Amino acid sequence: MSKRPEASLDSQMPDADQKRRRLDISENGDNAHLVTPEPHDHDHPANLIPALCAKFWTLGWVTGTGGGCSIRDDDLVWVAPSGVQKELMTSSDLFVLSVAQQTDPKNRVYLHKPPAGRPSQCTPLFMAAFTKRGAGCCIHTHSHWAVLVTLILESQGPEKDKAFEINNIEQVKGFGRGHQKQGNLDYHDTLRIPVIENTSHEEDLTEFLEEAMEKYPDTYAVLVRRHGVYVWGDNVHKAKTMCESLDYLFQLAVEMKQLGLPWISNVSKVVTSSGR
Ligand SMILES: [Zn+2]
Repeated sequence: MSKRPEASLDSQMPDADQKRRRLDISENGDNAHLVTPEPHDHDHPANLIPALCAKFWTLGWVTGTGGGCSIRDDDLVWVAPSGVQKELMTSSDLFVLSVAQQTDPKNRVYLHKPPAGRPSQCTPLFMAAFTKRGAGCCIHTHSHWAVLVTLILESQGPEKDKAFEINNIEQVKGFGRGHQKQGNLDYHDTLRIPVIENTSHEEDLTEFLEEAMEKYPDTYAVLVRRHGVYVWGDNVHKAKTMCESLDYLFQLAVEMKQLGLPWISNVSKVVTSSGR
C-alpha cells in the first residue's frame, strides 16, 4: 500500500506553480498527473481525499464503503470511486471531472478515470453543492448520530420530521450564517438542517437535495432519513469543521432526547461588561 500523506488543513493556498500544474489539463490525454501529486503537496485534492476518508473511517462515518468526500479546485472536481474501502483508497483511485463540462449529467465527461471502477454514486449530489452553492468541498457520512436524529424526528410525526433544529449550544457557532453571508451563527441562534427522504438509489436523492437547498438557502447540510448527512463548505477546512460540529450536535441531541431535554430552549442573553 502506498504511504498516505497527512492532510494539512491550515494551508489551503498552494503556491502559483503547484496550482498551475494541478489545473493544467489535456483534452486528449489521460491527465494522470491530476491524481499523482507530489507527496509533500498536502492540500492537493488527490492527497487530501484519501487522507480525509481514512480519518472519517475511524469515526464510523464512511465504513462499509458508504459515504465519502469530494473536492473542487476552480473548475476541476476530484471524486472517489463507488464501492471501495474508503480507508484504503489512494490518489490513483480517484476520478477527475470538470464542472464546466457537466451540461448533461447522464453523459458526464471525465478528464481522468482510473483503469477500473465507476465514480461514486454520490457524484451528482457533490456536484449540486459545487454548482448551486459554489462549495469547495462536500462530505457525505453515514454517521450513526445523523441516522438516529432522523429516526427521532420521524417518530415525532409527519409535520415535525422535516428539519432538525437546535439552539443555545456553543457548537452552533461552528456554522456559517449562510450562502454568501458573512460570519457564523451566534450561540443563541437556531441551527436548522432539512431532512429529505431516502431513495433506493443514492443518485436519485439529487433532486430532493436541490429542492432542500432552495427551501433552506442558508443551510450547509442536508440530512437523509435513515441514511446519513451531506455537508459542504467554501473549502475543505470549512466543510470539515461544519461536519464535525454537526456530528457533535447530533450526538448531543440524541443524548438530550434520552434525558428528556428539549433541543430548542429559551436562554436569556448574559449581560457582560463589554456590552456585547
Ligand atoms: Zn450514502
